[in-house]
Amino acid sequence: MGRIRLLPETVASQVAAGEVVERPASLVKELIENSIDAGAGRIDIMVRRGGISLVRVIDDGCGMDRDDALLSLERHATSKIRSAADLQAVATLGFRGEALPSIASVSRFRLTTREPHAITGSEIIVNGGKLEIVRDGGEAPGTQVEVRSLFYNLPARRKFLRSENTESRNIEHQIHLQAIGHPQIAFSLLRDDRVLFRLPAAATLGDRIRDLYGIELLERLVEVTGTVPRKIRIGGFIGQAGLSRQTRTQQLVFVNGRAIESSLITAAIREGYHTALMKGQYPVTFLFLELDPAVVDVNVHPAKREVRFRDPAGVREAIVRSVQQTLEGGRAAWQKKFRAPASFPATGPGKAVTDLRLRSEVSAPEELPRELPHLGPSAAGLAVAGIGDPGRAVKAEQAPSPAPVKRDGNQQEFQIIGVLSKLYVLMENADGLVLVDQHAAHERILFEELRRRMEEQGVPTQKLLLPQTFDVPPRDADWIEGNLLILQKMGIGIESFGPNTFKIESVPSFLNVSDPVQFMRKVVDDLKSATNSASAMRLGEEMIAKSVCRHAVKANDPLRYPELEKLIRDLLDCDLPYCCPHGRPTMIQISLAELEKKFGRKV
Ligand code: ADP
Ligand code: MG
Repeated sequence: MGRIRLLPETVASQVAAGEVVERPASLVKELIENSIDAGAGRIDIMVRRGGISLVRVIDDGCGMDRDDALLSLERHATSKIRSAADLQAVATLGFRGEALPSIASVSRFRLTTREPHAITGSEIIVNGGKLEIVRDGGEAPGTQVEVRSLFYNLPARRKFLRSENTESRNIEHQIHLQAIGHPQIAFSLLRDDRVLFRLPAAATLGDRIRDLYGIELLERLVEVTGTVPRKIRIGGFIGQAGLSRQTRTQQLVFVNGRAIESSLITAAIREGYHTALMKGQYPVTFLFLELDPAVVDVNVHPAKREVRFRDPAGVREAIVRSVQQTLEGGRAAWQKKFRAPASFPATGPGKAVTDLRLRSEVSAPEELPRELPHLGPSAAGLAVAGIGDPGRAVKAEQAPSPAPVKRDGNQQEFQIIGVLSKLYVLMENADGLVLVDQHAAHERILFEELRRRMEEQGVPTQKLLLPQTFDVPPRDADWIEGNLLILQKMGIGIESFGPNTFKIESVPSFLNVSDPVQFMRKVVDDLKSATNSASAMRLGEEMIAKSVCRHAVKANDPLRYPELEKLIRDLLDCDLPYCCPHGRPTMIQISLAELEKKFGRKV
């Protein structure tokens, strides 16, 4: 009897604080969100020792009068919503009225704030949730929150903090998110008295990305375009096909200006990239979704990191489509640049550069080369420059001049220089040097060719001399039953032959199937796990992607010049020429500017 006690208010709020203030980065997030909600034009952040010893956030926002400043430290005091109904359509970053009291209850906390036209501001000091001082303060208009000695009164929580470095990195990531989400706001970050960045207010998201991550990254991004249903707007930038990271840290997604984590969106982005993304890699995205706040529930996660959509399928579909369209658009722009006509000398000796190329002046132009020179790795650099060991260059000498590849009339797009290490085709285009991985290129070409056929008339099949029957476990039988039509479209002739038994009569003719039953089991295994969005095309694409690798020319297959030229032409005609169906790059451009830098001609 009488064992239950109400916790004193300070203890209760400390317990709850754990929800909001998990680590220094979470309080940084809350404070910046408050500054953004207050209409700040600039936010200056200072942290010491991973935010554990100090976090200070200064803004030039609307500030608070004395009463509001005191009220802001009460639990569930907020200016952002008034009723439960308002929760249905939250348009601000904050809405729970928990952050400031939570932070103040687990730190030594100081708030100074002043409204723009007020003569004087207020200063409030709270230690471990106890109000200590309230007085006039004379800071500039706006609000300044200083949080010292985080968790000094909660040693148990403090123990859970990681190293200062890790905490610092988390803070930085958090500020990156906010800075990307709000390019129009100037941000600065001082860490242990060192300036990590000063970002001026940016006119566009592109400018902000450039200021924060550099022009090199921006140049490899494509602006999100594409038409999606009116109810949702999608914008921002995503990495062009072939650009990826080993971690998710640069996969940023914002919903109505709020950085969120969403497995739904992650999966949709992945699906949009499909073969343009390497397995196990993560895309780079700065993706912005805007929808009516009424169809997004932001009140689902203590740190407001997750949201719920009223129409998840619609959101998913819109993202998949806009990522696909954006990548296709990016490809058009890329091809235009890649194929910009270069000033190649047509035939015969031209500028000095020409003479250094692997070309022979003795051979008649109509004589087709038998085989392109294959340069050993060691000879490569020198032989290309024409100053290598003459013995090694003999083969090259005999090879007649490959003419620049032309298209529609006389535009010369690029010139094949040679093959390096029996794998990399070296080419020159207007921008400089291009290296093509012949195996990856061929994979991409085969993949798109087969996919086209599958879309159009179905994959050609080859009848087996002896149809074979085979048994599968009930679940697999279910899966096959449900996907019979798709399998047929993919060139697999298969029909039910008893409860868990099937008969296979034909296989895709582009595959070299020696054991149809084993092949079938593998297809089922691969496809079952490959994708859960069981769209017919996707399944077919998966199968093709998996099989083309075995059929593409191998690294060591020597190609003759006409074959090479055709390979390159076919590649450039692909939908996604710059990466193979597994998302690895097919070609790499090394610009003249980069070369000049490397040779110290330019700094
Ligand atoms: P919430 O943001 O959910 O409303 P907080 O505890 O973070 O809750 O803040 C409480 C209130 O204090 C806010 O609703 C806002 O009115 C005020 N406030 C907090 N930070 C600032 C700031 N930087 N500038 C102006 N007002 C602020
Ligand atoms: Mg808040």
